[in-house]
Amino acid sequence: MSAFLEAKVLSVHHWTDRLFSFTTTRDPALRFSNGHFTMIGLMVDGKPLLRAYSIVSPNYEEHLEFLSIKVEDGPLTSRLKNIQVGDSIIVGKKPTGTLLIDYLLPGKNLYLLSTGTGVAPFLSVIRDPDTYEKFEKVILVHGVREVKELAYQDYLTKELPKHEFLGDMISQQFLYYPTVTRENYHQMGRITDLIENHELTKNLGLPEFDPKNDRVMICGSNAMIKDLKHLFEARGFKEGNTTIPGDFVIEKAFADQ
Ligand code: FAD
Ligand code: NAP
Repeated sequence: MSAFLEAKVLSVHHWTDRLFSFTTTRDPALRFSNGHFTMIGLMVDGKPLLRAYSIVSPNYEEHLEFLSIKVEDGPLTSRLKNIQVGDSIIVGKKPTGTLLIDYLLPGKNLYLLSTGTGVAPFLSVIRDPDTYEKFEKVILVHGVREVKELAYQDYLTKELPKHEFLGDMISQQFLYYPTVTRENYHQMGRITDLIENHELTKNLGLPEFDPKNDRVMICGSNAMIKDLKHLFEARGFKEGNTTIPGDFVIEKAFADQ
């Protein structure tokens, strides 16, 4: 039996010349938890060419959605960026990952800290009703270089609060904090700096980070993960994993070259 399922592309949206997202059909056999990633890719010369991708769409949706970088000369994305509606992709049958609310201890505030495509798994986590059952406040922080890289901003600020089932929870419990580093914007700075200088919590109107109340998920580049891990460990937060829940969990948004 093949380790992959076939999915047909339903829509493609290009955010920038480096970033795009697309939706596909979903085989009913594909089960996953919100926050999981799976292998996806294309058949190239009769062989599967696969990479890890976080699943953007929540697990109750009939379709799948992914957010993708376009790496110049990247084996997969130099091809994947050209996909059109009706094309086929392959999807691994075994989604996995650490960015699950189950791997966090109970807490009051859930911080989802992301840079670049690291926002992808959190788009699924923030649309899981269980997230709002388990936490009083859910804060999505997305750090990018340029304003145009703030993918899903309009959806998060305009559409999601009107969502048929999640709208009330989103309006009362969800906070979105975009931040930009290389262009003028009303919120600027690296997430690490915004935590060190207390700007993040101050602007959100929330208390200082405290392992008693706060739980954190982190997804971004290796450098961002390393810095944030140190920062939270220095504040007494303990890392969780798929077997032992903790105060924070991390996942790489990509592997360095
Ligand atoms: P690769 O040969 O795979 O990558 C070439 C280089 O490009 C890398 O060494 C790195 O320097 C850079 N790069 C790769 N991916 C990114 C990225 N996402 N952002 C910035 N720089 C990058 N990618 C996504 O676009 N969306 C996702 O949801 C996603 N989820 C991932 C989840 C996990 C757990 C891991 C480990 C990686 C994830 N990636 C994601 C990265 C993805 O697996 C591929 O690396 C990416 O699609 C590029 O593939 P490629 O074959 O074109 O180039
Ligand atoms: P990135 O370099 O990780 O930057 C995304 C955001 O994370 C930026 O706001 C960045 O701030 C911030 N950041 C970086 N390191 C951090 C750390 N240690 N702690 C906290 N925040 C941190 O991701 P990317 O923009 O997607 O680029 C990924 C790769 O593609 C890089 O290797 C880059 O050279 C290459 N690339 C990017 C662009 C682009 O326009 N985005 C264009 C060509 C090539 P800073 O701005 O302060 O670094």
